[in-house]
Amino acid sequence: MSAVRTRVEAPVGFAGQTADEWPRPRAFPRPELLERSVDTLPGVGPAVKTKLAKLGLERVGDLVTYAPFRYEEPADEKRISELSIDEEAVVDVEVVRFSSRRTRRRLTIQTAVVSDATGQMTAVWFNQPWLEKLLQPGTGARLRGRVQRRNEFLVKTFDVGGASATADFAPVYPASEEITPKKLRELVGAALPRSALDPLPARVKERERLPQRSDALWALHRPRSREEAEEGRARLAFDELLVLQVGLAARRREREAEIAPSLGAPGDLVARYRDVLPFRLTEHQERAVEDVDVDLVRTVPMQRLLQGDVGSGKTVVALYALLRAVENRRQGALMAPTETLAEQHFLTIEPICRELGVACALLTSSSTKREREAAPTADILVGTHALIQEGVELRDLAVAVVDEQHRFGVEQRSALAEGRSPHVLHMTATPIPRTLALTVYGDLAVSEIAKPPANRKPIRTAWVTEERSAEAYSRLRKHLDAGRQAYVVCPLIEESETSQARAAEAEAERLRRAELRGYRVGLLHGRLRPAERRRLMARFKARELDVLVATTVIEVGVDVPNATIMIVQEADRFGLAQLHQLRGRVGRGAEQSYCLLISRAREELTDAAVARLEALVRTTDGFELAEVDLELRGGGQLLGTRQSGLTDLKFAQLRRDRPLLERARVLADELVDDAGPLADEVAKRFAAVEREALA
Ligand code: ADP
Ligand code: MG
Repeated sequence: MSAVRTRVEAPVGFAGQTADEWPRPRAFPRPELLERSVDTLPGVGPAVKTKLAKLGLERVGDLVTYAPFRYEEPADEKRISELSIDEEAVVDVEVVRFSSRRTRRRLTIQTAVVSDATGQMTAVWFNQPWLEKLLQPGTGARLRGRVQRRNEFLVKTFDVGGASATADFAPVYPASEEITPKKLRELVGAALPRSALDPLPARVKERERLPQRSDALWALHRPRSREEAEEGRARLAFDELLVLQVGLAARRREREAEIAPSLGAPGDLVARYRDVLPFRLTEHQERAVEDVDVDLVRTVPMQRLLQGDVGSGKTVVALYALLRAVENRRQGALMAPTETLAEQHFLTIEPICRELGVACALLTSSSTKREREAAPTADILVGTHALIQEGVELRDLAVAVVDEQHRFGVEQRSALAEGRSPHVLHMTATPIPRTLALTVYGDLAVSEIAKPPANRKPIRTAWVTEERSAEAYSRLRKHLDAGRQAYVVCPLIEESETSQARAAEAEAERLRRAELRGYRVGLLHGRLRPAERRRLMARFKARELDVLVATTVIEVGVDVPNATIMIVQEADRFGLAQLHQLRGRVGRGAEQSYCLLISRAREELTDAAVARLEALVRTTDGFELAEVDLELRGGGQLLGTRQSGLTDLKFAQLRRDRPLLERARVLADELVDDAGPLADEVAKRFAAVEREALA
């Protein structure tokens, strides 16, 4: 089924490739066909339909955009007499005779004696008894595979009657055990002629020199070269990124139509705040403060992302923004994703607020009725996102700080702004690679604290396996004996917070009797009541405890500069971002700090686990680690499942496609008001994300 080829204008600057011919669809695009169920395709009955559904393929359109994960390498065309052992090749043959036999219980072997003008050999398949019907004597076949033993050819892929499975660059799709790449290739082939309407206006395509979308789909599934496949992929990636960027641009527009209170120039209160701080703001903090000040005088609500590594000094900037609200006789709110974090923030900012005569209140699920009733009158309210949003009518909210906002869905984030229209500062301590930030937060302005306060020494990290854990603990005891404090992070248990807490209790008990005998050991886990947790933290801060044994609840927010060493047990079980966050609990003062990662034995580790641990030893740069993480895991996971809807990209690869992303971003502003197929795509995409976030 050779497609009709036409020449198109060289897509100069697009994927950097020179002109080539593009395969074209043979049928008129009929978008409604793409919405139909896969079982409207020939060869798809209920059984196949179920198998396809497991791969997420339900509509014809899903097949059309099912991205190959690789292509068959080119293989030489050979004649039978030219084949050599173990070398992959393609041969055109005629079937002489076919047979099938059963070996052990469930295995069957199919063999066909095949010939060409130069000789004969036996072609071999496994477990494909249905081949008998196909490979009748006299049938011509094109086989791709390799000679395994003399005269025995193990078939990898084959075509009867000129399909394309054996071709160079034949696509290989993510398959399952029940459905083969070959079957997928057939089905995609059947779906392809129905391929999609181009969502881009013609003028844009012309100006940007983009190939047609349908051509791109053909190039993706039926390329004749690696370049052609890449050009196809790039166009589809561009569409994908554009849809995201147009959606984000639309949200930005909506928000810009809202009104926020314009705050006056920085006044007396923040001046006193600067005096109260025991240090001067760093250059990066000053720059972030300036950005915030510029935003706050406007009536367009601030939507700013404050990015910076753990301990870089974001909270100091956040409190500045909150105090700007207070000095304008309005309120500020600080929202955290968990109660522990909210409490921690409260412990940090409350003393400063008190010194400044600013009323600061904490709202948690265990707050008393009276505390709850008093909360709305505070100048600054600290609590979880949920509590503040649902629980309180703030009299006059002007600035909201949302901490660790990547843990919330995007929609929760925008819901916050609805109706109230405060200025919003989003803080994130998980460094997000610029490309990913543009993808997901393309609608936010960004301030970055790229460098921590100068008195910090980078944390030294070492990785040892279990059999050397005794050494790690003896290092830890040296720190304790020198008057420092330490953390020990318990192994991660996936099951539940309760079993995690129980395991942590047992581990703390064990450590008290063994490695940490004679030291004052506290235990922090997620099952503690908030008041207990607060008391424990306060004791640790006051040096009444030497060691805090903890689950990942210390991941964010705990701030004790005298804690200079951390041991993470079974560190290989943790994610990279999580380990980086954990590590950020030490290195908060001027002393040299250490993080000791203990993993299981090397043989038990996956390659990815080794890569994570090595990266942590190599660098403390959160952005670099985020890039590594992005490479190891992909964008969706990096941000948590909540936003996978936005980062679940089929074609785009954020790092590689950065130029496309930047172009899409510029174009989005121009296209945001266009109705038409692109707008439909955007609506569909964002509706799906919202559904997911609400679920
Ligand atoms: P983040 O919120 O980014 O994790 P914090 O604002 O909590 O960082 O700051 C981490 C630690 O560094 C705190 O103990 C804080 O008091 C201290 N710190 C913040 N800014 C400075 C600065 N400019 N100079 C010295 N120490 C600072
Ligand atoms: Mg902090």
